[in-house]
Formats: sequence, structure tokens, C-alpha cells
Amino acid sequence: MALGIKELGTAAKLVSKLDLAKIGKLAEKVDLDELIKMVSSMDEAQLATMMAAMKKGKKEKTLPEVNGDFFDIASTLTKRQREIQQRVRAFMETEVEPIINDYWARDEFPRELIGKFRELGLIHEVCNSDGSRREDASIIEGIATMEMARIDVSTATFFGVHAGLAMMSIIQGGSEEQKAQWIPKMMNLEVIGAFGLTEPQVGSGAAGGLTTTCKRQGDSWVLNGEKYWIGNSTFSDIVIIWARDLDDAQVKGFIVETANPGYSVEKIQGKIALRAVENGHITLKDCVVSEASRLQNASSFRTTADVLRMTRAGVAWQAVGAAMGAYEKALHYAQTREQFGRAIGNFQLIQNHLVHMLGDVTAMQQMCLRLSHMQDAGMMKDEHASLAKVFTAARCRDVVARAREIFGGKGILLENHVARLFNDTEAIYSYEGTNEINTLVVGRAITGFSAFV
Ligand SMILES: Cc1cc2nc3c(=O)[nH]c(=O)nc-3n(C[C@H](O)[C@H](O)[C@H](O)COP(=O)(O)OP(=O)(O)OC[C@H]3O[C@@H](n4cnc5c(N)ncnc54)[C@H](O)[C@@H]3O)c2cc1C
Repeated sequence: MALGIKELGTAAKLVSKLDLAKIGKLAEKVDLDELIKMVSSMDEAQLATMMAAMKKGKKEKTLPEVNGDFFDIASTLTKRQREIQQRVRAFMETEVEPIINDYWARDEFPRELIGKFRELGLIHEVCNSDGSRREDASIIEGIATMEMARIDVSTATFFGVHAGLAMMSIIQGGSEEQKAQWIPKMMNLEVIGAFGLTEPQVGSGAAGGLTTTCKRQGDSWVLNGEKYWIGNSTFSDIVIIWARDLDDAQVKGFIVETANPGYSVEKIQGKIALRAVENGHITLKDCVVSEASRLQNASSFRTTADVLRMTRAGVAWQAVGAAMGAYEKALHYAQTREQFGRAIGNFQLIQNHLVHMLGDVTAMQQMCLRLSHMQDAGMMKDEHASLAKVFTAARCRDVVARAREIFGGKGILLENHVARLFNDTEAIYSYEGTNEINTLVVGRAITGFSAFV
């Protein structure tokens, strides 16, 4: 039987896949000697057809699964922890990823997610109903944060500000009555919280430099000043305001309801990172709150620092997640994007990027997992959280930059998600203690000399 181009293509494809069973079947229909004769006497057009078929056959080969957990940290988790990880991953992939670019472009937080977050029940996995932390709270928080940031850092930040900074301020600094009043509602996301420490003129130097003041007047306090960068504050129900007492000069914390007269907020415009987080510029003008709103067990900046230490670990996990997400997106792209007739993953320089990225992601995961174990065991000190934050934020910056590069020009398009992770990493790098400040914290701990000015 004479072979046509179609049969030649089929034969070449099967040979390239080494599917012997199918070749056997083909052999029943065609004479293999004739096939060999035909191939050796093929003209250019026929050869080209056969090459195309062979390439197609190669493309169809099964590629390794895209997996940013190369050392299988998931296998070190308990069954419950793994179940939570998978639940958060599914939530982020189905509920957040499809909508987040539009919100990011519009500079708006997707409020529609708040109800869905409630159904996810994540805070109940971290805290008991009285707000006390479960024994593996830090691992759960860490893995969940990684999964959130793997898809979207803004969502992870919304959660970190509400369940971390705001809720932990009440848990660490509040009385039993204050915890009973606010924590259950915050755990159910019926009340959304924000955390107001930074000011327009005071960022890194907040410990000694706060200019927002509080003044006791009978059973009330009068707050005056401004707060800047305050995440969630454009729609939150309460904001924890940190202010300096005009009488004893100590920093005190207040649970300020945003409907309170004297409180106003404006959304900060023009960000290039975390655009789906709404950051507010708050003004407090003779804002009167009751003594019952003052955090009863927070009488100095020490409480603020305790909260920041815990949430700093969370930001380190955000860096892990963003890097992991960017690596996975880049690897998938490298397996599918073709240039010069082959997937770009074939090129040595692209593989070099991917291997560097995977090394960083893997090191970051191990560091943060250990950090969370230390946190749950009560062993985590400021310098541990600071080292993790400073290391992961810096490595994340490199990983997302390489991911953007692998996407070529398309790396700056939101539609591929890597551009968003790339930009959001800039915020990770600067908040919860800048690179310099966290470096100074670690430097002081290891040398015994404080280089803070
Ligand atoms: C997206 C985003 C969200 C945020 N959310 C919140 C929030 O919800 N609540 C809140 O209270 N704050 C929030 N912040 C504020 C954040 O914590 C501050 O931006 C951060 O603490 C740094 O302060 P700064 O931006 O004023 O920089 P600055 O303190 O002015 O620092 C400017 C530069 O000087 C360096 N520098 C400062 N001091 C030293 C020193 N002693 N030695 C060496 N270098 C130094 C810094 O590292 C930095 O590079 C947020 C910030 C961002 C960007």
C-alpha cells in the first residue's frame, strides 16, 4: 500500500512517542518496509510534514507537574494543617484569582470576599473562641498566609491586618471584657479591624516618635493627630489607634470605632503595589473615646512591639507565598511558551532562572516553617522574626523579578498575574519594618552593639 502524507505523519508521531502498541497496529495496516523506503526517499515538503508531526508528538509528552513545594513541606504538616492548606488554596484559586486583577487595577478591595472569608472559617482554625491561640496557631497562620500570597498578596494583607495586627492588639493588650466584646465578632468578620501606628511624618521611628496624642478627661480620652498607610481603614468598623499620652508620655492603644465623631479617613491614591488593599490617611480631630475603649493591658510601646513581632513573621510568609506563586507561574509559562520552535524551558538560561528561584523558595519555606514552630513553642525573639522578614523579602524580590523576566514583555501584563506579584513585593519589602530596620534588629542581636541612631 502506498503511504500518503497523513499516514507518514501518524507513523512519525507514533515513533516519536515510542508507542509500540500503536505502531504494531499501524503495521497491520501498512507495510513497514515500504514505510522505511518512503521515509528515506522523502522530498523536503514531506520531511517538513514529518518533522512537524514529530515535534507535535514531543509537545504532547507528559511534563513534570508544576509544584513550588519541592521539598514537600506539606508532608511535614498534620492532617488538619494539610486540610486547611488545601481549603485555602482552593478558595484562593476559585474565589480570588479570577477577580483580583480587576480590583487591583481599580485600586479597590474586593469587599465581596468578606462573606466568603467568613465561610472559610480560617480565624477559627487559629484561635479558640476566647481569642487564645491554638497550639499550632503560627503554623496554620503561616501556611494559610503562604497560600493566600501565592495567589494574591493584597488578600493576604487584608487578612494579616484584620486577624493579625488589629485582633492581636486586642488579644495582647485588651481586658477580658474587651476581648469578649470584640474578638468573637472579629473572628466571624462581622467587625473588620485596622491598625493605626504609622503617621505621615513617622514610620520606622514610631517607637519614640509618635506625634498623635491622647489626653485623659474624666472617663474619656481625647485623641488628636494623623495616621498614614492604615490598611482596611477605609471600610473597617474599628481601628486600633496608638497615641502618646500627654501626661505620662507613654504609648497607649485605643479601640476607635470609625463612626466616632472626630474620626475621618481618606483613601491613599496612586500606589504601584498592593493596589487591592485600601490604605487610609486618618485624621483624628478632638476624637473622644471612652476609657473603656483604651486597651487596658497596653501601657507602653512594648505591647505594640509584641504585636508587630508576631505579624512580622506573617509578612515573611507573605514573601514565601508571593515567590512560590511567581515561580509556579513562570515554570508553567516556560513549559508552554515556544520560541525558536521549542518551549522556552528548553533553554539553559531559562532553566538557570528557574533553579535559582526554586532554591530561594525552598530555603524561604524551610526558614519560615522553623520560625513558626519556634513561635508556637514561645521561642521566637524579635531578631528571629526580623531575620526571616529581611531574608524572605529580599529573596522574594529576586524571584518575582526572574519570573517577570521569564514572561518577557508579557511579564508586565496583569493578565499573567506575575506583574501583580512583582509589584506587590515592593510593599512586602517595606512594611512591617523596612529592610534596614530589620537588619539593625538582627545586627544588634548578633553583635551585641546597637547601630540604631
Ligand atoms: C502598603 C503598605 C501598607 C501599610 N500598612 C500599614 C498599616 O496597616 N498600619 C500601619 O501603622 N502602618 C502601615 N504601613 C506603614 C509601614 O509600616 C511603614 O511604611 C514602614 O514602617 C516604614 O516607614 P516609612 O514608610 O515612613 O519609611 P521611613 O521610616 O521614612 O524610612 C525611609 C527610609 O529610611 C530608612 N531608615 C529609617 N530609619 C533608619 C535607620 N535608623 N537606619 C537606617 N535606615 C533607616 C528606611 O529603612 C527606609 O529605607 C504600611 C506601609 C505600606 C507601604
